[in-house]
Amino acid sequence: MATGDCTLYGVHKMYMVSRAIIKNKYTGNTINSHWSYYKCRCGDLFACSGAPQLGEPILDYLTNHYMNGAGQSGIITIHVDPSDINNTSKRTLPGFDFIP
Ligand SMILES: [Zn+2]
Repeated sequence: MATGDCTLYGVHKMYMVSRAIIKNKYTGNTINSHWSYYKCRCGDLFACSGAPQLGEPILDYLTNHYMNGAGQSGIITIHVDPSDINNTSKRTLPGFDFIP
């Protein structure tokens, strides 16, 4: 599911940078306002509704590929096609490390 090998670390080291609000890009409706937003130093992005950095399941998630975000300090709004949202009950994803 990774969008490519990390150019810096091989495996992306994802640090949580803010909360995220996920909106439907077609309707503008909020899908979920309690996601977490992560970034690797290489620039790769990730967002999910779980808390993998705490050892909890990832649940709904988006990879770099589908991010169309508008950043503000402390929170980011991401407009997505709902069909691009993936789901997993796992705590890890191949190609990603979630840093506590
Ligand atoms: Zn990376």
